[in-house]
Amino acid sequence: METKQFKAESKRLLDLMINSIYTHREIFLRELISNASDAIDKLYYRALNEGISGLSRDDFEIDINIDKDARTLTISDNGCGMTYDELENNLGTIANSGSLKFKQENTKDEKNENDDIDIIGQFGVGFYSAFMVSADVTVISKAYSSDEAWRWHSEGVDGYTIEPAQKDGHGTTIILKIKDNTDEENYDEFLDSYRIQGLVKKYSDYIRYPIKMPVTKSRVKNEPKDENSAPEYENYTEIETLNSMVPIWKKAKSEVTQDDYNRFYKDKFFDFEDPIKVIHSSTEGTSTYNALLFIPSHAPYNYYTREYEKGLQLYASGVMIMEKCADLLPDYFSFVKGLVDSQDLSLNISREMLQHDRQLKIIASRLEKKIKSELLQMLRSDREKYEQFYKAFGLQLKYGLYSDYGMHKDVLSDLVMFISSFDKKYVTLEEYVSRMKEEQKYIYFISAETIERAEHLPQTELLKEKGYEVLYLTDDVDEFALQMLGTYNEKQFKNAASGDLELESEDEKKENEKLAEENKELLDAMKEALDGLVVSVKLSTRLKTHPVCLSSEGEISIEMEKVLNSMPTDQKVQAQRVLEINASHPVFAKLSELAKTDKEKLKVYSELLYDQALLIEGLPLRDPVEFSNRMCELMK
Ligand code: ADP
Repeated sequence: METKQFKAESKRLLDLMINSIYTHREIFLRELISNASDAIDKLYYRALNEGISGLSRDDFEIDINIDKDARTLTISDNGCGMTYDELENNLGTIANSGSLKFKQENTKDEKNENDDIDIIGQFGVGFYSAFMVSADVTVISKAYSSDEAWRWHSEGVDGYTIEPAQKDGHGTTIILKIKDNTDEENYDEFLDSYRIQGLVKKYSDYIRYPIKMPVTKSRVKNEPKDENSAPEYENYTEIETLNSMVPIWKKAKSEVTQDDYNRFYKDKFFDFEDPIKVIHSSTEGTSTYNALLFIPSHAPYNYYTREYEKGLQLYASGVMIMEKCADLLPDYFSFVKGLVDSQDLSLNISREMLQHDRQLKIIASRLEKKIKSELLQMLRSDREKYEQFYKAFGLQLKYGLYSDYGMHKDVLSDLVMFISSFDKKYVTLEEYVSRMKEEQKYIYFISAETIERAEHLPQTELLKEKGYEVLYLTDDVDEFALQMLGTYNEKQFKNAASGDLELESEDEKKENEKLAEENKELLDAMKEALDGLVVSVKLSTRLKTHPVCLSSEGEISIEMEKVLNSMPTDQKVQAQRVLEINASHPVFAKLSELAKTDKEKLKVYSELLYDQALLIEGLPLRDPVEFSNRMCELMK
């Protein structure tokens, strides 16, 4: 019998498969099953179009058989089958396969083993992937309406043979002789029915035709005779359908219960809690797809770490082609789990090609809008739920505001919330603006480690007296996010601890300027005493009862300084600090007096006040021992 040679390029790919060190060999099963399903599709549509009678949809199936002794795994279908020429053309060459074309275009440079591995992963290279796990492969096929059957056989790169064979019905049977285990590799797993069941569930659950396999089970043969003896068991074999066939996302919403969704989610995405939101949508038109998305009710333990990988499962016409397609989700919605199934995507599309795929971009942008609108709806109709969501993932939304130079503010500014000084509850920016006082110019905020601390910061005293709401920021990213946002509804954000709050009337302003002029000598003396620690000492326009506070001038606030300097870079920044004194506090009178009588004491008092301001701010004292000594000195 003549041994035929594979076409050169097929040989290369085959070589790649046989010697592959690719770890996801298991995908071969997905490839063979999806070929089988395609073959059934072909015949089924031919039957529909040509009006062939006697072919019922219900008769189609894919069978899997394991023979451990012979080390064979067999996959059969009763689809269209292949003629001699088709066997020759389809399995002797893969020139038609998109994967190889891509490979040729991309391997003009030197051959790189890693590229090869990537290609296997990305394409799943079809029929030849069988050689990743097989010592030899036999294909017995009989084309529909032909009475000849053929046996194709190959042990790899050396070529293949085709000879006449016997086969009852039409269709294709593929027999894989599974490789022997090696020191490094375990191939026996592909002869384990439990493992095969798992692989079918994982990759091919939604194939539209039943995938059947004999499964050995155990049952009680004889009930125990008495309490002390065990029952007698016996094994029996039952043909089981391994796949569920109709994917939940293809079902009408009315057919699926909340419980179904929840179970599916927990099963598929390994969560122990129900999702907080299920988004099930299907669209037709410029792109046709079904999407089933879930918002988890809590952040995964590794969510805010580098290990966390975002992405949705991607299916092409019911066949999973990618476990985590990152391009389908923007970073700020990276918490979303789920899947997309589209008939507009090709099964063999590579990761690189996907990134530029127009359909995928359209889908991604629709999903983004959908997620946003669902979140907004949750915010409006179920506040409690939204707050639970926000506690888990709000931080990510705020990172989103800040990232990419604020490019996503339109999507995100309505979704973020901060704690309000009014009731210590979450407030959205929209709500804040809607309840601003008539004369109020700005959206005020203040940063602190905790809400309790923010609550006691003296810088907001006057704001609060005027009845203005203040946003309490407690996450590192908050100020940066608001700075990136710049305005909301044309209202500017203003840090209550920075710059001029513009709270005074014209008259008050004049009054203050006059007072500052009168006390110029004192303020200058204090600044000098604080030698370089502050850029100026000022009469405060934000304090009411407290004697002092720190504020800042310019772009960088004291909070930003803290955050930036805690990052592992050499570059340190310094906020321009201002020590503010409350002119109506009794301490001020004392300072005025000292300015005239005791410059030395004024210096000590200035430093003490500065240290107090640091303490209030939650900043470390320059010298805590010195500070406490001075306090004791005063007490004596
Ligand atoms: P692809 O499926 O991407 O075209 P494959 O290498 O997996 O590439 O398969 C090559 C061709 O062989 C298929 O296009 C199909 O025509 C044929 N083929 C493979 N498996 C079967 C099968 N079970 N029944 C009929 N034809 C098949």
